[in-house]
Amino acid sequence: MTHHKIIILGSGPAGLTAALYAARANLAPVVIEGLQPGGQLTITTEVENYPGFPEGLLGPELMERFRKQAERFGTTYVYGDVIEADLSQYPFRLRTHSEAFSCEALIIATGASAKLLGLESEKRLMGHGVSACATCDGFFFKGKEVVVVGGGDTAMEEAIFLTKFASRVTVIHRRDELRASKIMQDRARRNPKIQFVWDSVVDEIYGTPDGQAVTGVRLRNVKTNALTDFPCEGVFIAIGHQPNTQLFRGQLEMDSAGYIVTRNRSTATSVAGVFACGDVQDPTYRQAVTAAGTGCMAAIDAERWLEAKAHG
Ligand code: NDP
Repeated sequence: MTHHKIIILGSGPAGLTAALYAARANLAPVVIEGLQPGGQLTITTEVENYPGFPEGLLGPELMERFRKQAERFGTTYVYGDVIEADLSQYPFRLRTHSEAFSCEALIIATGASAKLLGLESEKRLMGHGVSACATCDGFFFKGKEVVVVGGGDTAMEEAIFLTKFASRVTVIHRRDELRASKIMQDRARRNPKIQFVWDSVVDEIYGTPDGQAVTGVRLRNVKTNALTDFPCEGVFIAIGHQPNTQLFRGQLEMDSAGYIVTRNRSTATSVAGVFACGDVQDPTYRQAVTAAGTGCMAAIDAERWLEAKAHG
């Protein structure tokens, strides 16, 4: 087991900003990167709303810059995912598949992941025509007919992006009114390749017998319960996100959706010495810049907490 003053879980904008600040405070932070190093921004394309980059830049490039900046001041990266966390002991204990760690302060920046519909066929065909990330997989649907499930900004963004490849994009939404912001709605509605099916949910995804491709979906109208088959070759699920907090259930205070609760105007959690930043504690804003901001807060909170403990 290796011991460290501070460990940061997650390597998105929150985790890497926390690392930058902790490194500059001489705390030699260790970042355990998680299954998706760089976080959700690595599966986006152009980021146009990160301040300081007026021309925009690619998500993976932005995260590479974060990473280098934190490294320059002494951050160490560990590839892997934490599979066990024990916050009842102090120092806190963590374990990945191959290593064990202990630390005096812990910053949780494990982010959020895309929600799925929960159908067996969705699981079986994931990666074979079903996807939760248009920017990752859109390219495979050149000239094909696809559907996007959801009515929020993510669904609009994915639908618009997919029109670069697909012959037609059909947005399936469970109500007759979109949740997406006005500007995103307008862009989607104006796009001649996008059509909408209202008041409907996907209740089955059909695949080829070998399970290698999607052939269509079954739609259920939620008002009439009428079932219709809709042929398509791609199904993109864009129904929101859930926080990656499973490891900490029962150990930290969370809200009903599983987001970690932080104390007033700080990143402190219900366990002293454990801090949370980024999407894992933010159901509202979920932006790279807000995640980075709370990452900075978490490092400052952790540094002050360690300092007070040392002199306490
Ligand atoms: P949202 O929670 O905003 O929207 C989720 C959508 O999926 C809703 O329309 C919801 O329907 C629908 N939905 C949820 N569960 C199911 C289900 N089981 N079956 C069918 N439909 C379902 O999530 P988003 O990911 O779209 O957005 C998250 C946040 O990120 C928002 O604040 C958004 O503004 C922001 N964002 C901004 C972007 C931008 O500005 N460019 C791009 C992407 C995201 P219902 O409406 O009925 O609840």
